[in-house]
Amino acid sequence: MNMQANNGNLQRLDQSHHLHPFTDFRDYAQHGGRIFSRAEHIYIYDSNGHKMLDGMSGLWCCNLGYSQQSIVDAVTEQMQQLPYYNNFFQCSNQPAIELAKALVDVTEDRFNHVFFTNSGSEANDTNLRLVSRYYQLQGRPEKKHIISRKNAYHGSTIAAASLGGMSGMHEQTNGLDYIHHIEQPHWFEVGPDEDPDAFGLRVARQLEDKIDELGESNVAAFIAEPVQGAGGVIIPPDSYWPEVQRICDERDILLIADEVICGFGRTGQWFGSQTYGIKPDLMTFAKAVTNGYQPLGGVMVSDKITDVLLNHGGEFSHGLTYSGHPAATAAGLATLKILRESNIIANAADNVAPHFQARLKELEAHPIVGQVRGRGMFAAVELVSDKTSREKLAPESAGAVFCRNTANNLGLMVRQTGNAMIMAPPLICNTGEIDALVDMLSQALDATAKHYGI
Ligand code: PMP
Repeated sequence: MNMQANNGNLQRLDQSHHLHPFTDFRDYAQHGGRIFSRAEHIYIYDSNGHKMLDGMSGLWCCNLGYSQQSIVDAVTEQMQQLPYYNNFFQCSNQPAIELAKALVDVTEDRFNHVFFTNSGSEANDTNLRLVSRYYQLQGRPEKKHIISRKNAYHGSTIAAASLGGMSGMHEQTNGLDYIHHIEQPHWFEVGPDEDPDAFGLRVARQLEDKIDELGESNVAAFIAEPVQGAGGVIIPPDSYWPEVQRICDERDILLIADEVICGFGRTGQWFGSQTYGIKPDLMTFAKAVTNGYQPLGGVMVSDKITDVLLNHGGEFSHGLTYSGHPAATAAGLATLKILRESNIIANAADNVAPHFQARLKELEAHPIVGQVRGRGMFAAVELVSDKTSREKLAPESAGAVFCRNTANNLGLMVRQTGNAMIMAPPLICNTGEIDALVDMLSQALDATAKHYGI
């Protein structure tokens, strides 16, 4: 079968049998999608040979791009040596042990333990299990309410979807009733008429109000992404996190930082918590821990929690068949080796990210750009039809969808969230590659403005 015929067949099979995540099934069955067949460096190629600069690092995970041979080798060797064994029933394996130690080494001193999962969603479920065990062992089972934020994304299991604050997901989820949501620190969307720092303080203080409303003795934890990613790369005002940290310090509740996107260099330091000066008690990670090459997630558990869990003893009845999978943890170990032995995170923070942010900021002069926001290798470009009124370009985010599709056709993989174009390019991009990214986005903006007669 020739390539074209084979491709057509694949498209048909995909449309007929494959239910895709976060996809309108009926629409996909009718129209299909793009099948990716290979990738190299920061470029992805679809089965029609269309080359795209990956401005999203896959799904925020391939921070080191697609040509990291040492990760491939590590997984291959591990598959030959010990393709699988579990970590239940007093068993362990070498890469899981070594990755646990490496993660302890790259996180702050109070983190000395790791619980492995396969994904960020499961890691957030694990957080809830750990938190309830922590309070139950102390004889405080009523301390079970969790506070999260609107428009947060914490994953797709029932618990993770309940933790998340996306209304569309809640409508489709019979969620957990002990999870509550406060406002997100999204100045452009929620408080544009306020001074950004005053807005940041106001929404941070909703945490204090919610703790008072529920009763401090009933509240277990607050969970948040240092920068909300899937919600639209929402960069909190500078006043926000110090105030949240103050509240968590003064109140007897745990702070969970969901670092699934921010972790491993995205915001300019190893973890978003460092960028924002946050001291979480639990830290969720996934995605870039293996550079996306293997499914792996987990929770960094601080001494405050393990002091209780280890001292009391008793089985923690929670675990996954693939918790600490040898091939996945081997990929994690190889990824951390690259990050620790190279200057990729520092170079991205010091050289590439400032160029990326400065070039994107130039787009604020564009007639349909209402705001450019970003931090490190992470950014959003908000589209409007009128800069002063911030009127949306078109109903139902159609303007941003048009812009995204145009950028994709031009050879740039970017994502659309609401009315914003979202970017998280690999940390290994150089400034020339960033220029190519911004130039393609700029062309897509021109075409979008023209389409809407602006
Ligand atoms: N938390 C955050 C902040 C995420 O962005 C994601 C995934 N986008 C998750 C959790 C869920 O991770 P996974 O898709 O691996 O379950």
